[in-house]
Amino acid sequence: MKAQLKENTMARSGDIYNPATGEVISHVTFSTTADVDAAVKKAKAAFPEWADTPPMRRARIMFRFVELLNKNAAEIARIVSTEHGKVQSDAEGEVQRGIEIVEFACAIPNFLKGEYSDSVGTGVDSYSLRQPLGVVAGITPFNFPAMVPMWMFPIAITCGNCFILKPSERDPSAADFLAKLLKEAGLPDGVFQVVHGDKEAVDAILHHPDISAVSFVGSTPIAEYVYKTGTENGKRVQALGGAKNHMIVMPDADMDQAASALMGAAFGSAGERCMAISVAVAVTDQVGDKLVKTLKPLIENLKVGPGTDASAEMGPIITKQQRDRIAGYVETGAKEGAKVVVDGRKLTVKGHENGFFIGGCLLDNVTADMKVYRDEIFGPLLSVVRVKDYVEAVNLIHGHEYANGTAIFTNDGRTARNFARDIHVGMVGINVPIPVPVAMHSFGGWKRSLFGDVHMHGPEGVRFFTRLKTVSARWPHGPAEGADYHFPQNR
Ligand code: NAD
Repeated sequence: MKAQLKENTMARSGDIYNPATGEVISHVTFSTTADVDAAVKKAKAAFPEWADTPPMRRARIMFRFVELLNKNAAEIARIVSTEHGKVQSDAEGEVQRGIEIVEFACAIPNFLKGEYSDSVGTGVDSYSLRQPLGVVAGITPFNFPAMVPMWMFPIAITCGNCFILKPSERDPSAADFLAKLLKEAGLPDGVFQVVHGDKEAVDAILHHPDISAVSFVGSTPIAEYVYKTGTENGKRVQALGGAKNHMIVMPDADMDQAASALMGAAFGSAGERCMAISVAVAVTDQVGDKLVKTLKPLIENLKVGPGTDASAEMGPIITKQQRDRIAGYVETGAKEGAKVVVDGRKLTVKGHENGFFIGGCLLDNVTADMKVYRDEIFGPLLSVVRVKDYVEAVNLIHGHEYANGTAIFTNDGRTARNFARDIHVGMVGINVPIPVPVAMHSFGGWKRSLFGDVHMHGPEGVRFFTRLKTVSARWPHGPAEGADYHFPQNR
Protein backbone atom coordinates (compact mmCIF):
# COMPACT_ATOMS: atom_id res chain seq x y z
CA MET A 1 0.00 0.00 0.00
CA LYS A 2 2.82 2.33 0.97
CA ALA A 3 4.66 1.51 -2.25
CA GLN A 4 1.47 2.15 -4.21
CA LEU A 5 1.03 5.52 -2.54
CA LYS A 6 4.62 6.43 -3.27
CA GLU A 7 4.20 5.44 -6.91
CA ASN A 8 0.96 7.44 -7.25
CA THR A 9 2.50 10.59 -5.85
CA MET A 10 5.34 10.19 -8.31
CA ALA A 11 3.08 9.77 -11.34
CA ARG A 12 3.84 12.46 -13.89
CA SER A 13 1.07 14.19 -15.79
CA GLY A 14 0.57 16.85 -18.44
CA ASP A 15 -1.85 19.75 -18.75
CA ILE A 16 -4.35 19.71 -21.60
CA TYR A 17 -5.32 23.17 -22.82
CA ASN A 18 -8.19 24.58 -24.76
CA PRO A 19 -6.01 26.65 -27.14
CA ALA A 20 -8.95 28.95 -27.94
CA THR A 21 -9.24 30.12 -24.32
CA GLY A 22 -5.75 29.40 -23.04
CA GLU A 23 -7.26 27.49 -20.10
CA VAL A 24 -6.18 24.14 -18.73
CA ILE A 25 -9.24 21.92 -19.25
CA SER A 26 -7.90 18.58 -18.01
CA HIS A 27 -4.81 16.53 -17.34
CA VAL A 28 -3.33 13.35 -18.69
CA THR A 29 -1.42 10.91 -16.50
CA PHE A 30 1.79 9.80 -18.17
CA SER A 31 2.40 6.08 -18.48
CA THR A 32 5.57 4.79 -16.88
CA THR A 33 7.93 2.15 -18.26
CA ALA A 34 6.07 -0.36 -16.05
CA ASP A 35 2.71 0.70 -17.55
CA VAL A 36 4.06 0.16 -21.07
CA ASP A 37 5.41 -3.23 -20.03
CA ALA A 38 2.01 -4.21 -18.61
CA ALA A 39 0.32 -3.19 -21.89
CA VAL A 40 2.82 -5.23 -23.90
CA LYS A 41 2.22 -8.28 -21.69
CA LYS A 42 -1.53 -7.97 -22.23
CA ALA A 43 -1.07 -7.54 -25.98
CA LYS A 44 1.29 -10.50 -26.15
CA ALA A 45 -1.26 -12.69 -24.37
CA ALA A 46 -4.02 -11.60 -26.79
CA PHE A 47 -1.92 -12.06 -29.92
CA PRO A 48 -2.09 -15.84 -30.64
CA GLU A 49 -5.88 -16.00 -30.66
CA TRP A 50 -6.22 -12.73 -32.59
CA ALA A 51 -3.66 -13.80 -35.20
CA ASP A 52 -5.56 -17.10 -35.61
CA THR A 53 -8.91 -15.34 -36.07
CA PRO A 54 -9.83 -15.58 -39.77
CA PRO A 55 -9.13 -12.26 -41.52
CA MET A 56 -12.79 -11.97 -42.58
CA ARG A 57 -13.88 -12.04 -38.95
CA ARG A 58 -11.25 -9.45 -38.05
CA ALA A 59 -12.51 -7.30 -40.91
CA ARG A 60 -16.09 -7.63 -39.72
CA ILE A 61 -15.10 -5.83 -36.50
CA MET A 62 -13.77 -3.03 -38.68
CA PHE A 63 -17.14 -2.83 -40.47
CA ARG A 64 -18.81 -2.35 -37.08
CA PHE A 65 -16.12 0.19 -36.15
CA VAL A 66 -16.89 2.19 -39.32
CA GLU A 67 -20.57 2.32 -38.34
CA LEU A 68 -19.68 3.55 -34.85
CA LEU A 69 -17.24 6.12 -36.23
CA ASN A 70 -19.90 7.49 -38.55
CA LYS A 71 -22.40 7.65 -35.71
CA ASN A 72 -19.90 9.46 -33.45
CA ALA A 73 -18.05 11.55 -36.06
CA ALA A 74 -19.34 14.89 -34.77
CA GLU A 75 -18.39 14.01 -31.19
CA ILE A 76 -14.85 12.93 -32.19
CA ALA A 77 -14.49 16.16 -34.16
CA ARG A 78 -15.66 18.14 -31.15
CA ILE A 79 -13.02 16.47 -28.94
CA VAL A 80 -10.33 17.17 -31.58
CA SER A 81 -11.42 20.78 -32.01
CA THR A 82 -11.50 21.43 -28.24
CA GLU A 83 -8.01 20.12 -27.51
CA HIS A 84 -6.27 20.93 -30.80
CA GLY A 85 -8.06 24.18 -31.68
CA LYS A 86 -8.82 23.47 -35.35
CA VAL A 87 -12.26 24.57 -36.50
CA GLN A 88 -15.07 22.00 -36.27
CA SER A 89 -15.47 21.56 -40.07
CA ASP A 90 -11.72 20.91 -40.40
CA ALA A 91 -11.86 18.41 -37.53
CA GLU A 92 -14.81 16.68 -39.23
CA GLY A 93 -12.72 16.40 -42.41
CA GLU A 94 -9.90 14.79 -40.43
CA VAL A 95 -12.30 12.23 -38.93
CA GLN A 96 -13.73 11.45 -42.38
CA ARG A 97 -10.25 10.82 -43.84
CA GLY A 98 -9.58 8.52 -40.90
CA ILE A 99 -12.82 6.61 -41.53
CA GLU A 100 -11.71 6.02 -45.13
CA ILE A 101 -8.63 4.17 -43.85
CA VAL A 102 -10.88 1.95 -41.71
CA GLU A 103 -13.03 1.30 -44.80
CA PHE A 104 -9.84 0.25 -46.61
CA ALA A 105 -9.00 -2.04 -43.68
CA CYS A 106 -12.35 -3.82 -44.19
CA ALA A 107 -10.90 -5.08 -47.49
CA ILE A 108 -7.61 -6.32 -46.01
CA PRO A 109 -8.45 -10.04 -46.40
CA ASN A 110 -8.00 -9.41 -50.10
CA PHE A 111 -4.47 -8.07 -49.51
CA LEU A 112 -3.53 -11.03 -47.32
CA LYS A 113 -4.14 -13.49 -50.16
CA GLY A 114 -0.82 -15.04 -50.97
CA GLU A 115 0.54 -16.12 -54.32
CA TYR A 116 0.59 -19.72 -55.48
CA SER A 117 2.82 -21.44 -58.05
CA ASP A 118 1.92 -24.89 -59.18
CA SER A 119 4.79 -27.31 -59.92
CA VAL A 120 7.83 -25.17 -59.19
CA GLY A 121 9.70 -28.51 -59.29
CA THR A 122 8.61 -32.06 -59.92
CA GLY A 123 5.71 -32.60 -57.52
CA VAL A 124 6.61 -29.41 -55.65
CA ASP A 125 4.22 -26.46 -55.24
CA SER A 126 5.06 -23.11 -53.71
CA TYR A 127 2.95 -20.47 -52.02
CA SER A 128 3.44 -17.30 -50.02
CA LEU A 129 1.71 -15.99 -46.91
CA ARG A 130 1.64 -12.58 -45.26
CA GLN A 131 1.62 -13.05 -41.48
CA PRO A 132 1.23 -10.51 -38.66
CA LEU A 133 4.31 -9.36 -36.75
CA GLY A 134 3.00 -9.65 -33.17
CA VAL A 135 2.83 -6.66 -30.82
CA VAL A 136 3.35 -3.37 -32.68
CA ALA A 137 3.17 0.26 -31.60
CA GLY A 138 2.24 3.67 -32.97
CA ILE A 139 3.49 7.05 -31.75
CA THR A 140 1.55 10.03 -33.10
CA PRO A 141 1.73 13.85 -33.26
CA PHE A 142 -0.67 16.50 -31.97
CA ASN A 143 -1.83 17.84 -35.31
CA PHE A 144 -4.16 15.00 -36.38
CA PRO A 145 -5.14 13.33 -33.09
CA ALA A 146 -7.78 11.12 -34.75
CA MET A 147 -6.63 10.65 -38.35
CA VAL A 148 -2.94 9.83 -37.90
CA PRO A 149 -3.61 7.02 -35.37
CA MET A 150 -6.17 5.73 -37.91
CA TRP A 151 -3.43 5.66 -40.57
CA MET A 152 -1.88 2.92 -38.47
CA PHE A 153 -4.01 0.81 -36.14
CA PRO A 154 -6.91 -0.26 -38.44
CA ILE A 155 -4.35 -1.73 -40.85
CA ALA A 156 -2.18 -3.25 -38.12
CA ILE A 157 -4.98 -4.95 -36.22
CA THR A 158 -6.89 -6.18 -39.26
CA CYS A 159 -3.63 -7.78 -40.41
CA GLY A 160 -3.68 -9.72 -37.10
CA ASN A 161 -1.32 -7.68 -34.88
CA CYS A 162 -1.96 -6.30 -31.40
CA PHE A 163 -1.45 -2.53 -31.33
CA ILE A 164 -0.32 -0.11 -28.62
CA LEU A 165 -0.94 3.58 -29.36
CA LYS A 166 0.98 6.42 -27.72
CA PRO A 167 -0.82 9.58 -28.87
CA SER A 168 0.39 13.14 -28.39
CA GLU A 169 0.22 14.24 -24.76
CA ARG A 170 -1.16 17.60 -25.91
CA ASP A 171 -4.50 16.29 -27.28
CA PRO A 172 -4.80 12.69 -26.10
CA SER A 173 -8.59 12.32 -25.59
CA ALA A 174 -9.51 11.35 -29.17
CA ALA A 175 -7.34 8.21 -28.80
CA ASP A 176 -9.24 7.15 -25.67
CA PHE A 177 -12.55 7.71 -27.46
CA LEU A 178 -11.43 5.56 -30.42
CA ALA A 179 -10.41 2.81 -27.97
CA LYS A 180 -13.90 2.89 -26.47
CA LEU A 181 -15.50 2.54 -29.91
CA LEU A 182 -13.22 -0.37 -30.84
CA LYS A 183 -14.30 -2.18 -27.70
CA GLU A 184 -17.94 -1.50 -28.55
CA ALA A 185 -17.29 -2.89 -32.04
CA GLY A 186 -16.29 -6.18 -30.45
CA LEU A 187 -12.49 -6.04 -30.52
CA PRO A 188 -11.10 -8.51 -27.97
CA ASP A 189 -9.28 -7.13 -24.92
CA GLY A 190 -5.58 -6.49 -25.41
CA VAL A 191 -5.70 -6.14 -29.20
CA PHE A 192 -5.75 -2.33 -29.01
CA GLN A 193 -4.48 -0.32 -26.06
CA VAL A 194 -3.58 3.30 -25.43
CA VAL A 195 -0.65 4.40 -23.29
CA HIS A 196 -0.13 8.10 -22.65
CA GLY A 197 2.90 10.20 -21.98
CA ASP A 198 6.07 11.64 -23.38
CA LYS A 199 9.66 10.54 -23.84
CA GLU A 200 9.53 7.98 -21.04
CA ALA A 201 6.66 6.07 -22.67
CA VAL A 202 8.26 6.40 -26.12
CA ASP A 203 11.59 5.08 -24.84
CA ALA A 204 9.83 2.19 -23.10
CA ILE A 205 8.27 1.27 -26.46
CA LEU A 206 11.55 1.63 -28.37
CA HIS A 207 13.47 -0.58 -25.94
CA HIS A 208 10.80 -3.21 -25.29
CA PRO A 209 12.00 -6.59 -26.59
CA ASP A 210 8.45 -7.81 -27.29
CA ILE A 211 7.46 -4.97 -29.62
CA SER A 212 8.20 -5.95 -33.22
CA ALA A 213 7.48 -2.75 -35.13
CA VAL A 214 6.99 0.96 -34.53
CA SER A 215 5.10 3.36 -36.72
CA PHE A 216 5.89 7.00 -35.93
CA VAL A 217 4.65 10.37 -37.16
CA GLY A 218 6.04 13.65 -35.81
CA SER A 219 8.87 16.13 -36.18
CA THR A 220 12.10 15.19 -37.96
CA PRO A 221 14.49 15.21 -34.96
CA ILE A 222 12.21 12.83 -33.03
CA ALA A 223 11.49 10.73 -36.15
CA GLU A 224 15.23 10.26 -36.65
CA TYR A 225 15.69 9.36 -32.98
CA VAL A 226 12.79 6.89 -33.06
CA TYR A 227 14.10 5.30 -36.26
CA LYS A 228 17.68 4.93 -34.97
CA THR A 229 16.73 3.70 -31.51
CA GLY A 230 13.99 1.39 -32.75
CA THR A 231 16.11 -0.23 -35.46
CA GLU A 232 19.08 -0.57 -33.08
CA ASN A 233 16.70 -2.56 -30.90
CA GLY A 234 15.82 -4.86 -33.78
CA LYS A 235 12.45 -3.36 -34.67
CA ARG A 236 10.91 -2.60 -38.02
CA VAL A 237 10.40 1.18 -38.03
CA GLN A 238 8.69 3.68 -40.30
CA ALA A 239 9.15 7.24 -39.01
CA LEU A 240 7.50 10.10 -40.84
CA GLY A 241 8.98 13.51 -40.09
CA GLY A 242 8.58 17.20 -40.80
CA ALA A 243 8.07 19.14 -43.99
CA LYS A 244 8.51 22.35 -45.93
CA ASN A 245 6.16 22.03 -48.85
CA HIS A 246 6.59 24.20 -51.93
CA MET A 247 3.93 25.13 -54.46
CA ILE A 248 5.21 26.35 -57.81
CA VAL A 249 3.03 28.90 -59.60
CA MET A 250 3.87 29.01 -63.31
CA PRO A 251 3.15 32.09 -65.45
CA ASP A 252 0.44 30.21 -67.36
CA ALA A 253 -1.48 29.24 -64.18
CA ASP A 254 -4.89 30.68 -63.39
CA MET A 255 -3.79 33.19 -60.75
CA ASP A 256 -7.11 33.36 -58.85
CA GLN A 257 -7.28 29.60 -58.66
CA ALA A 258 -3.66 29.38 -57.49
CA ALA A 259 -4.27 32.07 -54.83
CA SER A 260 -7.39 30.35 -53.45
CA ALA A 261 -5.55 27.04 -53.39
CA LEU A 262 -2.69 28.67 -51.49
CA MET A 263 -5.06 30.17 -48.94
CA GLY A 264 -6.52 26.78 -47.97
CA ALA A 265 -3.18 25.01 -48.14
CA ALA A 266 -1.20 27.56 -46.13
CA PHE A 267 -3.76 28.72 -43.58
CA GLY A 268 -6.17 25.77 -43.18
CA SER A 269 -5.69 24.24 -39.72
CA ALA A 270 -3.50 27.32 -38.98
CA GLY A 271 -0.75 25.78 -41.10
CA GLU A 272 -0.34 22.94 -38.60
CA ARG A 273 -0.42 20.24 -41.27
CA CYS A 274 2.56 18.28 -42.51
CA MET A 275 1.14 18.78 -46.01
CA ALA A 276 0.52 22.53 -45.59
CA ILE A 277 2.11 24.68 -48.25
CA SER A 278 4.57 27.01 -46.54
CA VAL A 279 6.48 28.23 -49.63
CA ALA A 280 4.90 29.68 -52.76
CA VAL A 281 7.45 29.63 -55.58
CA ALA A 282 6.53 32.35 -58.05
CA VAL A 283 8.05 31.74 -61.45
CA THR A 284 9.00 35.26 -62.61
CA ASP A 285 8.67 38.54 -60.76
CA GLN A 286 5.43 39.32 -62.57
CA VAL A 287 3.82 36.19 -61.10
CA GLY A 288 5.24 37.13 -57.67
CA ASP A 289 3.71 40.63 -57.88
CA LYS A 290 0.31 39.32 -58.98
CA LEU A 291 0.27 36.58 -56.37
CA VAL A 292 1.21 38.85 -53.46
CA LYS A 293 -1.35 41.44 -54.56
CA THR A 294 -4.10 38.78 -54.70
CA LEU A 295 -3.11 37.06 -51.45
CA LYS A 296 -2.69 40.17 -49.27
CA PRO A 297 -6.39 41.09 -48.86
CA LEU A 298 -7.41 37.44 -48.60
CA ILE A 299 -5.01 36.90 -45.69
CA GLU A 300 -5.96 40.18 -44.01
CA ASN A 301 -9.61 39.15 -44.15
CA LEU A 302 -9.12 35.59 -42.87
CA LYS A 303 -11.71 34.92 -40.21
CA VAL A 304 -9.75 33.72 -37.19
CA GLY A 305 -11.66 32.41 -34.18
CA PRO A 306 -12.36 29.50 -31.87
CA GLY A 307 -13.29 26.11 -33.29
CA THR A 308 -16.78 26.52 -31.87
CA ASP A 309 -17.44 29.53 -34.15
CA ALA A 310 -18.96 28.03 -37.30
CA SER A 311 -17.86 31.03 -39.36
CA ALA A 312 -14.17 30.78 -38.34
CA GLU A 313 -11.74 29.75 -41.10
CA MET A 314 -8.70 29.37 -38.88
CA GLY A 315 -8.38 28.45 -35.20
CA PRO A 316 -5.66 29.01 -32.61
CA ILE A 317 -2.20 27.42 -32.36
CA ILE A 318 -1.73 24.34 -30.16
CA THR A 319 0.34 26.04 -27.40
CA LYS A 320 1.41 29.52 -26.35
CA GLN A 321 5.07 28.55 -26.88
CA GLN A 322 4.39 27.50 -30.46
CA ARG A 323 2.37 30.67 -31.12
CA ASP A 324 5.30 32.77 -29.82
CA ARG A 325 7.75 30.70 -31.88
CA ILE A 326 5.78 31.43 -35.07
CA ALA A 327 5.64 35.14 -34.17
CA GLY A 328 9.44 35.01 -33.71
CA TYR A 329 9.84 33.81 -37.31
CA VAL A 330 8.11 36.95 -38.62
CA GLU A 331 10.76 38.98 -36.79
CA THR A 332 13.55 36.70 -38.01
CA GLY A 333 12.31 36.91 -41.61
CA ALA A 334 12.24 40.71 -41.45
CA LYS A 335 15.78 40.80 -40.02
CA GLU A 336 16.97 38.46 -42.76
CA GLY A 337 15.66 40.86 -45.43
CA ALA A 338 12.24 39.41 -46.29
CA LYS A 339 9.38 41.86 -46.77
CA VAL A 340 6.58 41.44 -44.23
CA VAL A 341 3.46 41.92 -46.36
CA VAL A 342 0.90 40.73 -43.80
CA ASP A 343 1.79 40.65 -40.10
CA GLY A 344 -0.64 38.48 -38.12
CA ARG A 345 1.07 39.07 -34.78
CA LYS A 346 -1.19 41.95 -33.79
CA LEU A 347 -4.38 39.95 -34.09
CA THR A 348 -6.67 39.58 -31.08
CA VAL A 349 -9.87 37.58 -31.00
CA LYS A 350 -12.60 39.34 -29.04
CA GLY A 351 -13.65 37.38 -25.98
CA HIS A 352 -10.66 35.05 -26.45
CA GLU A 353 -7.82 37.37 -25.49
CA ASN A 354 -5.95 34.58 -23.68
CA GLY A 355 -6.27 32.11 -26.59
CA PHE A 356 -3.16 31.12 -28.54
CA PHE A 357 -4.11 33.03 -31.69
CA ILE A 358 -2.01 34.51 -34.44
CA GLY A 359 -3.30 35.84 -37.74
CA GLY A 360 -2.10 34.77 -41.18
CA CYS A 361 1.39 36.07 -42.09
CA LEU A 362 2.85 36.65 -45.56
CA LEU A 363 6.54 37.21 -46.27
CA ASP A 364 7.75 38.19 -49.74
CA ASN A 365 11.24 38.13 -51.28
CA VAL A 366 12.26 35.17 -49.13
CA THR A 367 15.47 33.48 -50.30
CA ALA A 368 16.85 29.97 -49.88
CA ASP A 369 19.56 30.97 -47.39
CA MET A 370 17.10 32.43 -44.86
CA LYS A 371 16.21 30.58 -41.65
CA VAL A 372 12.57 31.42 -42.26
CA TYR A 373 12.86 29.40 -45.50
CA ARG A 374 14.93 26.48 -44.21
CA ASP A 375 13.06 25.72 -40.97
CA GLU A 376 9.72 24.01 -40.62
CA ILE A 377 7.65 26.70 -38.86
CA PHE A 378 4.37 24.78 -38.64
CA GLY A 379 2.07 27.77 -38.47
CA PRO A 380 0.10 30.21 -40.65
CA LEU A 381 3.15 31.83 -42.23
CA LEU A 382 3.51 31.71 -46.01
CA SER A 383 6.81 32.65 -47.67
CA VAL A 384 6.98 33.76 -51.29
CA VAL A 385 10.22 32.91 -53.10
CA ARG A 386 10.67 34.42 -56.56
CA VAL A 387 12.61 32.50 -59.23
CA LYS A 388 13.30 33.19 -62.89
CA ASP A 389 12.14 29.91 -64.42
CA TYR A 390 10.88 26.36 -63.93
CA VAL A 391 14.39 24.88 -63.65
CA GLU A 392 15.30 27.24 -60.83
CA ALA A 393 12.03 26.34 -59.07
CA VAL A 394 12.80 22.62 -59.27
CA ASN A 395 16.40 23.16 -58.09
CA LEU A 396 15.11 25.17 -55.14
CA ILE A 397 12.89 22.26 -54.06
CA HIS A 398 15.72 19.77 -54.57
CA GLY A 399 17.95 21.87 -52.32
CA HIS A 400 15.66 21.56 -49.31
CA GLU A 401 16.23 18.85 -46.70
CA TYR A 402 12.50 18.00 -46.52
CA ALA A 403 10.56 16.34 -49.32
CA ASN A 404 7.12 15.48 -48.00
CA GLY A 405 4.68 17.07 -50.49
CA THR A 406 4.78 19.58 -53.31
CA ALA A 407 2.50 21.02 -55.97
CA ILE A 408 2.64 22.82 -59.28
CA PHE A 409 -0.04 25.11 -60.69
CA THR A 410 0.14 25.29 -64.48
CA ASN A 411 -2.00 24.88 -67.57
CA ASP A 412 0.78 23.18 -69.51
CA GLY A 413 0.52 19.39 -69.59
CA ARG A 414 4.15 18.86 -70.57
CA THR A 415 5.48 20.96 -67.66
CA ALA A 416 3.12 19.17 -65.27
CA ARG A 417 4.20 15.74 -66.50
CA ASN A 418 7.89 16.59 -66.28
CA PHE A 419 7.39 17.90 -62.76
CA ALA A 420 5.53 14.78 -61.58
CA ARG A 421 8.26 12.53 -62.97
CA ASP A 422 11.36 14.54 -62.08
CA ILE A 423 10.74 16.05 -58.68
CA HIS A 424 12.42 14.36 -55.67
CA VAL A 425 9.41 14.55 -53.35
CA GLY A 426 7.15 11.80 -52.01
CA MET A 427 3.70 13.26 -52.77
CA VAL A 428 3.01 15.51 -55.75
CA GLY A 429 0.00 17.62 -56.73
CA ILE A 430 -0.78 18.89 -60.21
CA ASN A 431 -3.13 21.83 -59.65
CA VAL A 432 -3.92 20.09 -56.33
CA PRO A 433 -2.36 22.02 -53.44
CA ILE A 434 -2.52 19.34 -50.72
CA PRO A 435 -1.96 16.02 -52.48
CA VAL A 436 -2.68 13.73 -49.54
CA PRO A 437 -3.04 10.21 -50.95
CA VAL A 438 -6.47 8.66 -50.33
CA ALA A 439 -6.88 5.47 -48.31
CA MET A 440 -6.15 2.94 -51.08
CA HIS A 441 -2.83 4.67 -51.84
CA SER A 442 0.03 5.15 -49.41
CA PHE A 443 1.31 8.25 -47.62
CA GLY A 444 4.94 9.23 -47.17
CA GLY A 445 7.67 11.68 -48.04
CA TRP A 446 11.26 11.37 -49.18
CA LYS A 447 14.60 12.57 -47.80
CA ARG A 448 14.42 13.82 -44.19
CA SER A 449 10.61 13.63 -44.20
CA LEU A 450 10.70 9.83 -43.86
CA PHE A 451 13.09 7.49 -42.07
CA GLY A 452 12.67 3.92 -43.23
CA ASP A 453 11.39 3.04 -46.65
CA VAL A 454 7.82 1.91 -46.32
CA HIS A 455 5.05 4.50 -46.62
CA MET A 456 1.98 4.54 -44.44
CA HIS A 457 -1.51 3.02 -44.93
CA GLY A 458 -2.85 1.57 -48.21
CA PRO A 459 -0.93 -1.38 -49.69
CA GLU A 460 2.37 -0.21 -48.15
CA GLY A 461 0.71 -0.24 -44.73
CA VAL A 462 -0.25 -3.90 -45.20
CA ARG A 463 3.36 -4.67 -46.14
CA PHE A 464 4.68 -2.81 -43.10
CA PHE A 465 2.46 -4.67 -40.64
CA THR A 466 2.98 -8.16 -42.08
CA ARG A 467 5.93 -10.32 -43.03
CA LEU A 468 6.24 -12.62 -45.93
CA LYS A 469 6.66 -16.36 -45.69
CA THR A 470 7.13 -18.64 -48.69
CA VAL A 471 6.31 -22.34 -48.42
CA SER A 472 7.54 -25.05 -50.77
CA ALA A 473 5.52 -28.27 -50.42
CA ARG A 474 5.94 -31.81 -51.70
CA TRP A 475 3.94 -34.92 -50.93
CA PRO A 476 6.28 -37.80 -51.85
CA HIS A 477 4.94 -41.09 -53.02
CA GLY A 478 6.69 -44.26 -54.06
CA PRO A 479 9.96 -45.54 -52.61
CA ALA A 480 12.24 -43.19 -50.63
CA GLU A 481 14.78 -41.36 -52.78
CA GLY A 482 18.45 -41.34 -51.90
CA ALA A 483 20.09 -38.28 -50.35
CA ASP A 484 20.87 -35.50 -52.82
CA TYR A 485 23.83 -33.28 -51.91
CA HIS A 486 23.46 -30.85 -54.78
CA PHE A 487 21.73 -27.52 -54.41
CA PRO A 488 18.15 -28.17 -55.59
CA GLN A 489 17.69 -27.00 -59.16
CA ASN A 490 15.01 -27.27 -61.75
CA ARG A 491 16.65 -29.42 -64.43
P1 NAD B 1 6.69 15.80 -32.01
O1 NAD B 1 7.83 15.21 -32.76
O2 NAD B 1 6.98 16.82 -30.97
O3 NAD B 1 5.87 14.64 -31.26
C1 NAD B 1 5.48 13.47 -31.91
C2 NAD B 1 5.40 12.34 -30.90
O4 NAD B 1 6.71 12.12 -30.35
C3 NAD B 1 4.47 12.64 -29.74
O5 NAD B 1 3.74 11.48 -29.43
C4 NAD B 1 5.42 13.02 -28.62
O6 NAD B 1 4.94 12.67 -27.33
C5 NAD B 1 6.68 12.23 -28.94
N1 NAD B 1 7.90 12.93 -28.50
C6 NAD B 1 8.10 14.27 -28.44
N2 NAD B 1 9.34 14.54 -28.01
C7 NAD B 1 9.94 13.36 -27.79
C8 NAD B 1 11.24 12.99 -27.34
N3 NAD B 1 12.17 13.90 -27.03
N4 NAD B 1 11.54 11.67 -27.26
C9 NAD B 1 10.62 10.74 -27.57
N5 NAD B 1 9.36 11.05 -27.99
C10 NAD B 1 9.02 12.33 -28.11
O7 NAD B 1 5.65 16.35 -33.09
P2 NAD B 1 4.36 17.24 -32.85
O8 NAD B 1 4.77 18.61 -32.46
O9 NAD B 1 3.40 16.51 -31.99
O10 NAD B 1 3.75 17.25 -34.34
C11 NAD B 1 4.14 18.16 -35.33
C12 NAD B 1 5.22 17.57 -36.21
O11 NAD B 1 4.76 16.36 -36.80
C13 NAD B 1 5.58 18.48 -37.37
O12 NAD B 1 6.97 18.45 -37.53
C14 NAD B 1 4.88 17.83 -38.56
O13 NAD B 1 5.46 18.10 -39.81
C15 NAD B 1 4.99 16.40 -38.21
N6 NAD B 1 3.99 15.60 -38.92
C16 NAD B 1 4.42 14.84 -39.96
C17 NAD B 1 3.52 14.10 -40.69
C18 NAD B 1 3.97 13.26 -41.84
O14 NAD B 1 3.17 12.47 -42.31
N7 NAD B 1 5.19 13.37 -42.32
C19 NAD B 1 2.15 14.12 -40.35
C20 NAD B 1 1.76 14.90 -39.26
C21 NAD B 1 2.69 15.64 -38.55
